[in-house]
Amino acid sequence: MNEILKAACVEKQAVNEGELALINRQALRVLSAEEVFTFRLAACDNQVDRDFEQFTDAALEGLAPLFVGKTVLMDHQWSAGKQTARVYGADVETAGTVKRLVLRCYMPRMDQTAGIIAAIESGILRECSVGCTVERVICSICGADQAKTCCRHIPGREYDGQLCTMALDGAKDAYEVSLVAVPAQPAAGIIKSKRYGGQDQPQDPPAQTGEKEAMEMAQALQEQEEKRYGGI
Ligand SMILES: [Zn+2]
Repeated sequence: MNEILKAACVEKQAVNEGELALINRQALRVLSAEEVFTFRLAACDNQVDRDFEQFTDAALEGLAPLFVGKTVLMDHQWSAGKQTARVYGADVETAGTVKRLVLRCYMPRMDQTAGIIAAIESGILRECSVGCTVERVICSICGADQAKTCCRHIPGREYDGQLCTMALDGAKDAYEVSLVAVPAQPAAGIIKSKRYGGQDQPQDPPAQTGEKEAMEMAQALQEQEEKRYGGI
């Protein structure tokens, strides 16, 4: 089965103790909240996408643990040096009927990563793609598994008034997660950033004040961008 590549969106992610514990499962040494920058990738969901494909809820649940520990590849212009991010958490989040796989990633804050962190915070690096494979690709018209046989139905066409879509089912493997600077598909737009868990740490040390301001500024920029792309 060929690897499936899907566009995803970059969001903000706050660091709290629970998140830090998950990060430290991946880190080589124990990191403090001040030492890490975190972000979220709204990866694939159970809605029909522009390829007329949709992941099943079970596939999303199965993919989540497969992405944990994966390296996040950077757009070539950011890939010099030791700039590296890693997926430390993955969960399927539900909003109404939408179920979405959200990957939580971290990268160490250091001189070499300052540029890429600024690019993420300012919304320049805001698109990404995720690669994975599934066991089955089921035609909505005839139920044929395209992994075994190819039916005559074409995704996106209607057959007797019924739209042909392909259901991606059975998580097999998760491969790449890549951040890209130039949105290949502007219509993918931006998902408004949400703070994880909705709780701000009450005893933020002063050192984080700057970070908070930077995040708020990035959020404001993102909202501006959202308005710009909102009509699409
Ligand atoms: Zn078919």
